[in-house]
Amino acid sequence: MAPVLRDRGGIWLGWPGITDEDNISDKKLKELMEKGIKDSGYDLEPIIFSHEEAEKYYEGFSNEIIWPLFHDLPSLCNFKEEYWNIYKDVNERFASKLTEKAKPEDFIWVHDYHLINVATRLRKRSLTNKIGFFLHIPFPPLDVFLKLPWRREILQSLLDYDLIGFQTQRDKRNFLQCVRRVLRFRVQARGTKNMVYIKNHNRKVSVAAFPISIDYDSFAEGAESENVAKRAWFLHENLPNRTLILGIDRLDYTKGIPFKLKAFKRALEKYPELHKNISLVQILVPSRVHIPKYRELKENIEKLVGEINGKFTELGWVPVYYIFRSMTREELLAYYRTSEIAFVTPLKDGMNLVVKEFCASNIEETGVVILSEFAGAAAQLGEDSILVNPYDVERTADAIYNAFTSDYTYRKRRMRKLRRSIKKYDIFWWVNEFLEYGKEE
Ligand code: UDP
Repeated sequence: MAPVLRDRGGIWLGWPGITDEDNISDKKLKELMEKGIKDSGYDLEPIIFSHEEAEKYYEGFSNEIIWPLFHDLPSLCNFKEEYWNIYKDVNERFASKLTEKAKPEDFIWVHDYHLINVATRLRKRSLTNKIGFFLHIPFPPLDVFLKLPWRREILQSLLDYDLIGFQTQRDKRNFLQCVRRVLRFRVQARGTKNMVYIKNHNRKVSVAAFPISIDYDSFAEGAESENVAKRAWFLHENLPNRTLILGIDRLDYTKGIPFKLKAFKRALEKYPELHKNISLVQILVPSRVHIPKYRELKENIEKLVGEINGKFTELGWVPVYYIFRSMTREELLAYYRTSEIAFVTPLKDGMNLVVKEFCASNIEETGVVILSEFAGAAAQLGEDSILVNPYDVERTADAIYNAFTSDYTYRKRRMRKLRRSIKKYDIFWWVNEFLEYGKEE
């Protein structure tokens, strides 16, 4: 969202990740905000949580209930009434700060699953601004959504917005089906193919899909820069005559990393010609490492990497390069540029921006994409990628081999199409689309 706010101006209200227990003085916070505003180029308004709010609202309701449920993993949910109550309280705090800050002509745009209840709170305060909501994660199918104890309240909260945006048509369809079945509301199609509306008492709620994207030009231009070219050359020199297959994922169970590693291992077992000729670079970006489930996942990943390398490494060839840290933008671009295959296989993902960034940075247009059919990006990029079911280790292993052996003409044709589509539907297109719909009466 940063390039968008820089472009259009506005105020960003959000949680900067610190709690009252961090003991940051008002003076220090003010300094941090001033620096943030200077660096970002737009206004920032922090909402500081108590330790309890961070635990029960952020880690609890948002990340132990909505996150796993909306990614079709209900068995990982920890349904607690206490979490729901604190979720509403924190949403109230956002609404209260918004009421203070918003001018009557402002468009209020609420982002993501942490803040579903904000519009309800704003309506109670009789705010007349137009309010839009965008869900960055998937919306689950009816049978999964029904497991949520607060299913009616969550749907009703969403219907307090004027415009609700989803990543894909599939998410939109799932939501509409839940509205019909749980609330018994009628859904009507409108003039355009994308837009439908729901009558919520005396208000009209518009619902549409807007696939989020990236600042294409900044990745394409960044990949061409001298510093990135130098880094890419360095990587290439250190791994000569080697096809690099690249995975970049945040440490999260939705990213399907153990399945991905099993598929890579299977490919090495099945196709000896890959030996010494391919290496997987798996970058794992640290996330929520203090939570036991995430620590277990990390240990499992590291065990699998160890097994693969223990079994297959030969003098001069390491099958898996595993990196557990965040990258600088230049490093990231260098990996994107040097790798020939993107290996993007989440079990479920709202969109997946890594795959779009890989394509935008692939300035030679010789890369290949292996993409999970359960990533939102598959709706846009599936036709020109090698689509896989990430649970299907055997076929994903074959996909690796097919990508490795695919010829230059095939790669060029597909990568060109992928890049054209991402360039056309970039982040600025996405914002314009959403705001245009937002303006409609
Ligand atoms: N990314 C990052 N630091 C890194 C590696 C990646 O900030 O060290 C960025 C990457 O460029 C991308 C985002 O993290 O923009 C990941 O977005 P994606 O939609 O793929 O997955 P998410 O983590 O949001 O589920």
